[in-house]
Amino acid sequence: MRSRLLALVAVSLLASGCAAHGGETAQGRPGPSATTSGSGVTGGSGLSAAQLARIPHFPPAPPPKPVTVPAGASAGWYSAIPTDQPIAFITMDDGWTKDPRALPLLQAAHVPVTLFLEINAIKADPGYFTRLQQAGAVIEAHTISHPELKGKSYDVQKHEICGSADELGRLYGRRPLLFRPPFGDKDATTLRVVHDCGMKAAFFWKETTDKGIVRYQAGSKVKAGDILLMHFRPAFVDDFLAVLQAISAAGLTPALLEDYVN
Ligand SMILES: [Zn+2]
Repeated sequence: MRSRLLALVAVSLLASGCAAHGGETAQGRPGPSATTSGSGVTGGSGLSAAQLARIPHFPPAPPPKPVTVPAGASAGWYSAIPTDQPIAFITMDDGWTKDPRALPLLQAAHVPVTLFLEINAIKADPGYFTRLQQAGAVIEAHTISHPELKGKSYDVQKHEICGSADELGRLYGRRPLLFRPPFGDKDATTLRVVHDCGMKAAFFWKETTDKGIVRYQAGSKVKAGDILLMHFRPAFVDDFLAVLQAISAAGLTPALLEDYVN
């Protein structure tokens, strides 16, 4: 009975795009699939020539035309940015698996990314994400302990949301302005707390990525303004390459989410 219940919970978490962390390898160490053999590895980055060759060449992103978050007592809520510009947004959540190839891959791809980091997932090695930040990644908030927020009291949500923004501000020198709720689940209280914690908007997604496969909420192609979700998981390299290729196949260019929210 208990194992059946756990299985159901696991399925529902996967379906919501934000898997339970228990299935991942020990914190900070990619699983065996993430290691590389000596042959074909390029320049000490741990990335093979074949992997580097999968990075698409994107046209330059157009000058951003940001959306204005609705005025009022609640933060904005978006699964995509309403735009006709040929762009899409790459977002990466949690931070449990710290694959050393993420930095050289990000540098080689040279695209903007937004990281929604969970404090408990990063606290063993916050410096890993400082290096990604120095390579252009922007760090935003995703709670302290990754609870289901929907239905929780204002104070519980405030502790998780404001607390994570405060800590990320201390760690990375910039207090987050954007938020992603764990599992993409929120209620009206969540959006009020995000606003009261000094942040502008919270986000769901249009595509999720796992084990190198992009899954679409609708259709089979990334559309202008879509927000793509992936995680710091053992398949980070394959997931990131799949996201880049999906955006490229749609004729779009990655843009920075922060540039599109006023
Ligand atoms: Zn998450």
